[in-house]
Amino acid sequence: MHATALQHTARGQQATACSRTRVRATVPARICHCQGRQRLVVVATATPTKEDATLKADSAAPAKGSSAAPTAVPVPQPVIEDEGIELAWPAPRPWAEVLLSKVADTVDDLGVIARRTFNDNVPGIEAIDRLFRAGKGGKLQLKKETQKPVVLVLGTGWGAHSLVKVIDVEQFEVVVVSPRNHFLFTPMLPGTAVGTVEFRSLLEPIRTSNPFATYLEASCEKIDPDKKVAYCTAAVAFEDGRRPQFEIEYDMVVVAVGEQPATFGVPGVADYCYFMKEVSDTVELRKKIQEAFELAALPGTSEEDRRRVLHFVVVGGGPTGVEFAGTLNDFVRVDLAKKYPQLMPFVAVSLYQSAQSILTQFSGSLQQRAIQNFKASGVQVVLGVQVTGVERDFIKIKSKDSEEVQDVPYGLCVWSTGNAARPLVRDLVAGLPRQGKYSNPARPAAAKLAVDPYLRVVGTRDMIALGDCSMMLGNRLPATAQVAGQQGAYVARMVNRGYSMGLGGMDTAPPVRVDPALGEVDTEGLRKLHPVDAAAISQQPKLTEMDLQAVLNNDSTYLRTPAGVSYYRKPFEFLSLGIMAYVGNDKALTQVEAFDTSLNVYGSLAFLLWRSVYITKQVSFRNRVLILFDWMKARVFGRDLSQF
Ligand code: FAD
Ligand code: MG
Repeated sequence: MHATALQHTARGQQATACSRTRVRATVPARICHCQGRQRLVVVATATPTKEDATLKADSAAPAKGSSAAPTAVPVPQPVIEDEGIELAWPAPRPWAEVLLSKVADTVDDLGVIARRTFNDNVPGIEAIDRLFRAGKGGKLQLKKETQKPVVLVLGTGWGAHSLVKVIDVEQFEVVVVSPRNHFLFTPMLPGTAVGTVEFRSLLEPIRTSNPFATYLEASCEKIDPDKKVAYCTAAVAFEDGRRPQFEIEYDMVVVAVGEQPATFGVPGVADYCYFMKEVSDTVELRKKIQEAFELAALPGTSEEDRRRVLHFVVVGGGPTGVEFAGTLNDFVRVDLAKKYPQLMPFVAVSLYQSAQSILTQFSGSLQQRAIQNFKASGVQVVLGVQVTGVERDFIKIKSKDSEEVQDVPYGLCVWSTGNAARPLVRDLVAGLPRQGKYSNPARPAAAKLAVDPYLRVVGTRDMIALGDCSMMLGNRLPATAQVAGQQGAYVARMVNRGYSMGLGGMDTAPPVRVDPALGEVDTEGLRKLHPVDAAAISQQPKLTEMDLQAVLNNDSTYLRTPAGVSYYRKPFEFLSLGIMAYVGNDKALTQVEAFDTSLNVYGSLAFLLWRSVYITKQVSFRNRVLILFDWMKARVFGRDLSQF
């Protein structure tokens, strides 16, 4: 007993001494050797200045439309600082160790899915009446009626979908609110604009993903974190324009609403450009591409008009823009060239990029390969230019080092320069005082919800944020499908294992689980996640910085927990598998990551790898089969040119 106490003090002092080492945030880092582990300590001043806040917000938000560059050696993480508490993020575990723990988690998930597969009681449309009682007031207030805790999920994208797939519907009432009733496999979206794959092959209706979750086709417009109520408006309307509105009482809410395409305030973008974000975007694009060729093929169309309508412009040299430019060029040179040979001299595909290179998250040699491939296959790459405005039939471009603005005629312009916050997230960040510290009020479009290592939104109760709309304190993660998907599954497992989220922030205890045998279950307790005794949770001791650091490091020797109470010991860990991009002409770039090293592959082999990874990554067997057939069809018969 005595010996243990001594050990506590000795190790505690060491850790404290380490976390007190102060280096301003602008200074890169210093390595600390704590508990035999290397870690990087970067501490911002306790009361950050406005400048500090900006710096943090800027560095936390990934570059536009990009994912962070993968590195061979895991980079030690900086300190997380919130309300005067400063914790060092634990050094990443070896890749293989993280992989093993994710595999073990997946086995856990399979158990949950297997149990519900043999359940015949799929909720009918009366489910919402069973869950909630309509309250008074102009709007429909949905008061919780069910005995199970209500987990409200906002979104049906990568993060939400992976959560909904594995959450235990036997323990929770899962309500999904999203204006989109399906999941979309975004990495292959560019291919749908030209018919390499069909739209429906990339989708999964959310009601299929988990038939036991209740889905409502609506947008959440506002959340009251204190009352724990979400305000929603239906995404569908009656013929007379009535659009139902309702308020949902939740026990826990997961904000996974992603982001929307950013226009950076460039005039004309919203009016004349196409985006590459949803299936509806590529449906329109496919029609527009085909129309351009038919228009150019009409008798009497002038050469000037032909040249203009057949000029396809892509703005943005990130993975999405590049993949679309490459894919479109394939379509033009392989399929359309056979049917419209007379038009080929008039066709041009151009990619405009403000930086001096494209695909900047890849290694320099791969970037060069991508540019060379474009040159060889006829895509015009224009680097170091800004698009300053878009008119109906020309775009205005300005080179970085000259004031001269040039007008370039175009027929179709795809805008793919990155993402901006959705109004819901913008409002939440602006309305939560403790979020203000991590975002820059002058740049509301860049707002993201700051979350702690358990993905709880700092300064709120029982609110999780994940994916593109969130930003993890102290651990900058790229805004990618890989991250969002792993975060969704992480949260589902945490709640499946019986942990209540509680208050988010670095100065609060981690998610807590109270042994159900400890206390009585009362109605108050039911309002929390999991039927635990509320009193037992309130007995939780105030954790010291040292305790919190110990939890974060999963170091059990430090931790004093009351009997029957346990803290969640697994902060979110990202397992990076690498990045890849298709660049056209049956070539791709891949940076595969495994066992803490990364391997660059370029060309046809990388394209094979790209296809193998994406076919395995599909969310259902049905989609895998459909995509294989689509690829085969396109290869054997060519892409379909019908237009309707
Ligand atoms: P999303 O997947 O964007 O989902 C957001 C969900 O919230 C949607 O269902 C939306 O309808 C819903 N929603 C919006 N507003 C509301 C509201 N008010 N209330 C309720 N619901 C709302 N990443 C990679 O890792 N690899 C790639 O190769 C790759 N390629 C990409 C290609 C394209 C064309 C695009 C667009 C993205 C690509 N990404 C890729 C990025 C990846 O898709 C995103 O990082 C990922 O979708 C983020 O997941 P999310 O769950 O945060 O948000
Ligand atoms: Mg999502």
